[in-house]
Amino acid sequence: MPFKFAILAGDGIGPEVTAEAVNILRVVAELGGHDFQFTQHLVGGVAIKSAGTPLPTATLDAALESDGVLMGAVGGNEFNALPPDKRPEAGLLQIRQALGGFANLRPAFAFKALGENSPLRADVIKDVDILFVRELLGGLYFGEPRAWNKDTHSAWNTMRYTRDEVIRVARVAFELARTRKKKVTSVDKANVLEVSQLWRAAVTEVAAEYPDVTLEHQLVDSCAMLLMSVPRHFDVVVTENLFGDILSDETGVISGSLGMLPSATIGGAVNLYEPVHGSAPDIAGTGKANPLGAILTAAMMLRYSAKLDQEAAAIEAAVNQVLDAGYRTADILRGNQPGQQLVTTKEMGLHVHSALTHLIDTRQSMHGV
Ligand code: NAD
Repeated sequence: MPFKFAILAGDGIGPEVTAEAVNILRVVAELGGHDFQFTQHLVGGVAIKSAGTPLPTATLDAALESDGVLMGAVGGNEFNALPPDKRPEAGLLQIRQALGGFANLRPAFAFKALGENSPLRADVIKDVDILFVRELLGGLYFGEPRAWNKDTHSAWNTMRYTRDEVIRVARVAFELARTRKKKVTSVDKANVLEVSQLWRAAVTEVAAEYPDVTLEHQLVDSCAMLLMSVPRHFDVVVTENLFGDILSDETGVISGSLGMLPSATIGGAVNLYEPVHGSAPDIAGTGKANPLGAILTAAMMLRYSAKLDQEAAAIEAAVNQVLDAGYRTADILRGNQPGQQLVTTKEMGLHVHSALTHLIDTRQSMHGV
């Protein structure tokens, strides 16, 4: 069965890291006998320049017709003076909204080879593997009424959820927990907020459908501390939009660099896959960008859209092998550690390419005996 992937590389380092991710997907297709079809489309600043809008209709149509959308990043200094709805970032918000994904998956894992890169102690982050499931379409970011009344010098936002909105994202978390360590931590502020009390009741309701999965509730303030002190305690963490935004960024320190972090947004018409980092205009075009976040994002696309879990795991293993071998882009190079070799974006992509080829070849020859 063919899989149609829409590639929206965007601005800055977006095209550089996305090219490496697509190369890796091509290896998977070639060696695994899969039919992956890629089409490239404009988004962000490049789309403003050539089509006058950050999300051209042709891009949105192609995204909606695809089996998965892989984005690079958008944004650039030359657009900073534009009003928010005309900037490249507006394209990102528009496509997220149009695709309708409500569950944002953000893994936070410790790479064995990068144990010394995190500001946290290596023994604290060892073997950490957390999957955040952040509700993406509700809560404070979208709730009405919202306003800043400059006459009265007051401002307000509304945190609002319906039971159904909580139930659908909780189900995603429990389903994912079933494929992992079968534990869900639901994060709220139920000691103060009514909306959190509803959240807690709805998640507890869903838990009854999953007797094989353990559910615990945590308050967001103490959870923020436990994520830094005992991160291995966590498996799947489900939480509302604002809390998820803050906690998943906090947990990003475990991986050591923004350039290593993948994400996926699922549950809508088509899933959207983006590395967590932005367009990094400060290093665009210098070959310094770390492509591993984009490559791990491509692995998520195989896992959640193409249902090719083994292939996704092979990409993740290849990334770990390359790190174990000491290859480092500038963002993850640490002066005081022996055995590291500085590589460019392209070279890093090629090392993952060859590790993956070797892994798949070995697996296939083992199947053959
Ligand atoms: P950024 O993520 O682009 O960069 C922050 C810092 O991290 C920079 O020093 C950058 O060099 C470094 N960095 C980021 N990704 C890296 C990688 N893969 N390898 C090595 N180093 C990396 O965030 P920013 O500087 O705040 O924003 C720059 C532009 O990107 C802005 O226009 C912003 O609006 C946009 N942005 C876009 C997205 C997105 O497209 N999803 C997300 C965040 C920011």
